[in-house]
Formats: sequence, C-alpha cells, structure tokens
Amino acid sequence: MNKLWKWTSIVGGVFLALSFSVLLVYSATKPIVYTEDLEDEELEEEVQIGKLLEFTPTEETEIYLEFLPDTRLENIQISEDMSRNELFVDILDVKSLERVLATLEGNETLLAHAAWQKNEVGIRITLFLRDFYAYTYRWEENKLYLGLEKPRDKYTYIVAVNAAHGGSNTGNEVNGVKEKNVTLAVAKEVRKLLQEETVGVFLVRKDDSNLSAHKRAAYVMNLKPDLVLDLHCNVNGENERQFGTEIYYNEEYYWPDFTNAQFADQMERVLVEHIQGKANGIFPDTERKYPMIHLLEVPTISVELGYLTNKQEGKLLEQQSYYELLAQGLQLGTKEILENMDSKAQ
Ligand SMILES: [Zn+2]
Repeated sequence: MNKLWKWTSIVGGVFLALSFSVLLVYSATKPIVYTEDLEDEELEEEVQIGKLLEFTPTEETEIYLEFLPDTRLENIQISEDMSRNELFVDILDVKSLERVLATLEGNETLLAHAAWQKNEVGIRITLFLRDFYAYTYRWEENKLYLGLEKPRDKYTYIVAVNAAHGGSNTGNEVNGVKEKNVTLAVAKEVRKLLQEETVGVFLVRKDDSNLSAHKRAAYVMNLKPDLVLDLHCNVNGENERQFGTEIYYNEEYYWPDFTNAQFADQMERVLVEHIQGKANGIFPDTERKYPMIHLLEVPTISVELGYLTNKQEGKLLEQQSYYELLAQGLQLGTKEILENMDSKAQ
C-alpha cells in the first residue's frame, strides 16, 4: 500500500493566512494527500479573461481551432499556465479575431470555457481547461489541433522539478553567477535525463520568470507528482572555504513507509557519490527557509547544490558540464527514491 497520509496538521506559514483542509486525491495507482486550498492574494486576483469565445462541443479528445486562410503556424505561439489549468494560443500581429479564427471545437469534459483578448503581440486565446493537461499540437490545413493528456494517464511516475528563484528574484549571486540561472540550467538537464516512457518530468519554472511560492505550489498541486525536487545554491560569506551539498526536508509530514528525511538521505548519498562531492548532511527546515517543502504535502526535498562563495565549487557552478553532472546525480537519486517507494508499496 502506497498510502500517503499526514499525521499532523500544519499551522501558519510565512506567506499564508491559511486554513488547511484536506482533500484526498485518488489517482489510479497512487493515493496522495493534498491540501485543498492555497488562497492568497495572487491567486485571488482575477485574470483578465477578455471576451468569452464560443466553442462547439465535440466528443473528440482533441481541441481544435480552425483559422482562416492565410494564417500561418509561424504566427501562432502556444504556452500554458497549469497553476491555473490555462492554455494560451497567441496569434501574432493581428488586430481582430474575426480576421483569423473561424471556429473552435472542444470536448466539454476537457474545456470549461474559452476567452480572447488583445495583447501587446496580437490576440490571445485562453482555453480554460478542467484539469492539468500536458499538451501536444499539430497543424493541418489551417487547423491547430491540441492533444491533451493527464500526466497520470501517461506516466507511472511524475516528478516536478522546481528551479528556485527567477526573474528579479536572482537568489544568491557571487561574481555574476546567479542562483536562479544555475537552478534552471540544472532543472532542464534533470528533465532531459530523467524523462522517459514511464517517468514524466515537469518543470515548475521553465524560463526566467519570477513565480511566487504559491503559484509554484498551485502548479505542483494540480500536477500531483510523486516527488518534488526543489533546487538551490548556497553561499557562506563568512567562510569561503565551506563547500558541499545539503538537503533540507520537512519533518512534520510523515508517510507510513517513508519520511522526508529518508528521501533526503537517499538523494544526498547518491548525488554526492556521483559528483564526488562532499555531503554536509540533511536538515529539517526548522527555520522555514524553503517555502516549497512547507506548502506541499507531497514528498519534497530542497537540494542545495553547492556553495557559490567557494572558489572551486563556485567555478564549477558556472559550467554547463557540471550542471550535467549534478543532473545525472539527481536523476540517479530520484530513480532510487522512486524504486524504494515502489518496493515499500508492494
Ligand atoms: Zn535559494
């Protein structure tokens, strides 16, 4: 039985005035406990949804948009915000929707409603989906087909990787090396290495945007992963000789077969062995420096990849080859954790 449950309720939080209620989300194979709401001002703030857009309900599992002749795929950009279950189709360099779009068709079990608005680049169509979907698309004769799949239907394991910081929140910075860039580079490598047929890897932050902790948590809670890696880089201004890896965990959450400390320990051993580094140990985040491990009631560990203030390690943390090495270590550690989760579950 891979039943995850919490035994203690968490009170307070640096960023939240929250009331936790617990929602049991049963997926086909893995029951997981999640907190239901993440109410904060940012999530409350209403999206500018623009004008509602008519769509024709279909039985198909694909959504499609039929464009008028002359529309080219090069003028269309697709992106998403799955912390809100929203998919965006931007049509560049157009001023009125009537000039480009003929019809929109979609399955009502997937698509709740749609809206459009003008923006700086042209026109944005927002598709409000009913769940977290991974999307694919194809373009055929002026039609944009969007295939939607729930991660849990596709993958046995789901891993979320959070590249901490981003945008104006650079994190630690030493000699021009910014934590936000290191974490994103490593996260992308982890995805490349770990993603396979049975393992779906999702990046919470995909670019240099400054996402709030709550936005990140909302994304993860929609995704419902088995494991979350939260990546950071350390500094010690008082002792530049300090180097090595540390992993933080939340000791308040507990699973019957595993604790977060065990996940942290497994990861640190595998990672440090692979990179031939130094393990500084695993620590409960009693000072609450890592919001992700307190906001998420799924196995989450915050990994400090190394010290930017250390001469040698700081140099390594500038190099793509070292990002790849770190990612390999994280991949091996993650695989071991997932395997152990599985063997305990049987
Ligand atoms: Zn950090």
